Amino acid sequence: MKIHVLPREVFNKIAAGEVVDRPYSVVKELAENAIDAGASEIVVEIECGGKKLIRVTDNGGGIEKDDLALAYLPHATSKLTSAEDLFGVTTLGFRGEAIASIAAVSRMKIVSKTEEGDAYSLSCTGGALGDLVPAAGAKGTEVTVEDLFFNTPARLKFLRSDQQEEGDVANMMARFILSRPEISFTFIANGKIKYRSYGDGLSSAVANVYGAGILGNLFEINADKHGIRLRGFIGDQNFSKPNRTYQSLFVNGRYVVNQTVSAALTNAYASYLMKRQYPFYVLFLDLPPEIVDVNVTPNKSDVRFADNQIVYGSVYSVVSAVLDGNSRALEYLAGVPAPKPTPMQEAIPLEKKPASETLEALPAMSYDEAKKELEFDIPPVAAKVNLPRRIFPDPSAAFEVNAPAQEAQKPAEDAYEENKRMLLEEEKRQKQQKVDVRSLRFKGELFRTYLFYESGDDAYIVDQHAAHERLIYDKLREKLDSRTVVSQPMLVPFVVTLNGPEFAFICKQLPILEEIGFEVEEFGGNSIKVSAVPSDLMGIDLNAFFGEIVATMESLRAIKLGDLLKDRLASAACKAAVKGGEFLTEEEAAALIARMDGDMGLKCPHGRPVAVHLKKSEMEKLFKRIV
Ligand code: ADP
Ligand code: MG
Repeated sequence: MKIHVLPREVFNKIAAGEVVDRPYSVVKELAENAIDAGASEIVVEIECGGKKLIRVTDNGGGIEKDDLALAYLPHATSKLTSAEDLFGVTTLGFRGEAIASIAAVSRMKIVSKTEEGDAYSLSCTGGALGDLVPAAGAKGTEVTVEDLFFNTPARLKFLRSDQQEEGDVANMMARFILSRPEISFTFIANGKIKYRSYGDGLSSAVANVYGAGILGNLFEINADKHGIRLRGFIGDQNFSKPNRTYQSLFVNGRYVVNQTVSAALTNAYASYLMKRQYPFYVLFLDLPPEIVDVNVTPNKSDVRFADNQIVYGSVYSVVSAVLDGNSRALEYLAGVPAPKPTPMQEAIPLEKKPASETLEALPAMSYDEAKKELEFDIPPVAAKVNLPRRIFPDPSAAFEVNAPAQEAQKPAEDAYEENKRMLLEEEKRQKQQKVDVRSLRFKGELFRTYLFYESGDDAYIVDQHAAHERLIYDKLREKLDSRTVVSQPMLVPFVVTLNGPEFAFICKQLPILEEIGFEVEEFGGNSIKVSAVPSDLMGIDLNAFFGEIVATMESLRAIKLGDLLKDRLASAACKAAVKGGEFLTEEEAAALIARMDGDMGLKCPHGRPVAVHLKKSEMEKLFKRIV
């Protein structure tokens, strides 16, 4: 067989498969080029899911007349000149293959004008260049791609329905809007505007994508943790979505999907959301480049971290502090005046700066220092001020199980001020859902489950079991946090047999287990002997409990294991403690609502709502008294 060099058109057609396989990947490449060209306004239009037409127009720097033909050449790029440049890539594209690849499998036209030059147009059909002709147009570039894959029927057949392709393009446009809030994007499909952002900041971008109403359900965070900067929006405790499409993660500016970060978030929300509910987040992680390895192969969007624990730990501790409302939340919430701004918080908004500068702007913390700080943070109970997760004014009411919690740590000097501010914030946030307890009148009970309360023109229906569960859970969490758990010896020790890795894992966690009230020791083979349990756990299925812990050990392996364990423990315990179908006396019903402190936004530890609000007007509508 003779070796021969493939004609360019053939080569480009093959290469195109790697870079562009679907309309959305064409849009991605073209929009990235527009961003690289410094555009502040980008318009993306598609027809028939992008199969018939894709047009990306920008107001960026444009392409010189003489360079137009070069743009169509494979490996022609203005973004790299030498191999050394590869190490400092700050633009999104740099391989110089997108335009050539797309042009090989479509009818493409580029019209472009630089600041000084005139507008020119150059077409290319299935890889064959047309003539360079003068055109009309403002500064910037308009790239039109028609009849994608017209000359590669196999690939054309591979495309999904117009609607599905359009959906994928729309999702990607949403990500562009979120990741580049300083750029104005317009996305038009079949003549209709689907998205429009104005380039005026992240909260506006989030509102443009998800609707303005969403902001009321989100926390804005801006935190520095272990040398990692975390910023963006996360859903509050009551806000969940039925799938993962409401989750966007950007690592050093790139959209990625990442297991570690996703696990950290899932665990931070674990006690607030039910199974098959997913938290909302638009999260930006900016890390020193030495701990992140972005895999920039054409379509892959995963990222690897040199140390997953650092990343897991930062995300988990910041997000759970904000959700649990502990004193550290203050440092992490954007817009809340922190006692001492860190250098990062003083820094100019990240999106205004090129990537290379933002990386330098990260706190001068080496990887080793970050690791050290992390280890310091790991100890079972992190040095934090003990704030109740929710604020109950009367901790001595019916649900007190043991002696009141004692202060385990000496609070920092300004902790009082800090707490006060935090509580004020929290109060402001919950105001709408908060009811003055004194105004509530108990009106009876239904099905031995639902308690009715009236307050002016509002009615509240409280699920007594969900409420009870939540209160017990909070109580237990507090106790665990302040190490006032009472351990109770078992009459007959319980032996749990594990496999090798599970055994090794549990053995490493013995101090934590002890701290939360277990007495556990190695028992030969791969077994452990449990001879005492936290008193609240008396009677639970220990096999199931340990089974659950080792089943999630991959994610538990990371830091804050103590925290996660406590969570599981508290949920397990309250499940065991709450019995159904009990009849509550009027006094008990009043005590329950008093303990809830009128917080009608509470959720039970499994994410179910504790109370439902019904307005008088809604009743009147039901009975057609008003329309
Ligand atoms: P890459 O982006 O990897 O350099 P492309 O094939 O995507 O490769 O683009 C080739 C070149 O064409 C770019 O390097 C750039 O000089 C030019 N170019 C493409 N799109 C635009 C645009 N929208 N504005 C200005 N220049 C562009
Ligand atoms: Mg490119």
